[in-house]
Amino acid sequence: MDCLFCRIANKEIPARIVYEDDLMVAFEDVNPQAPVHVLVIPKKHIATSLEITEVDNALIGLMFQTANKIARERGVAGSGFRMVMNCNKDAGQSVFHIHLHVLGGRLFQWPPG
Ligand code: AMP
Repeated sequence: MDCLFCRIANKEIPARIVYEDDLMVAFEDVNPQAPVHVLVIPKKHIATSLEITEVDNALIGLMFQTANKIARERGVAGSGFRMVMNCNKDAGQSVFHIHLHVLGGRLFQWPPG
């Protein structure tokens, strides 16, 4: 399967990996939008959040726990951070392998742009 994030998870494409375990990989976003901008992905290929099913419930919980771990390690847990998962065109999803953006280190606006 020709998926950019599967290839990063398989180490076929280099990335600045900051965390990895059996199920998850986290790496620096190549085009950071904040002082902290890390992407958390499951190694399992899931194209969009719409394809998440009941068998993935534990996996999705682990994604959030991994994001929390990164936020704590980067020192933004207390000050605040944003977790974002874009789905499909209008949200701006550009890579069709689910990923949680972990953004922190600056003040974010609401509503988002
Ligand atoms: P999204 O638009 O929500 O699908 O987010 C995709 C993210 O992947 C963007 O923030 C990109 O900057 C990031 N990205 C694309 N290619 C790479 C790459 N090779 N390594 C790290 N991040 C990437």
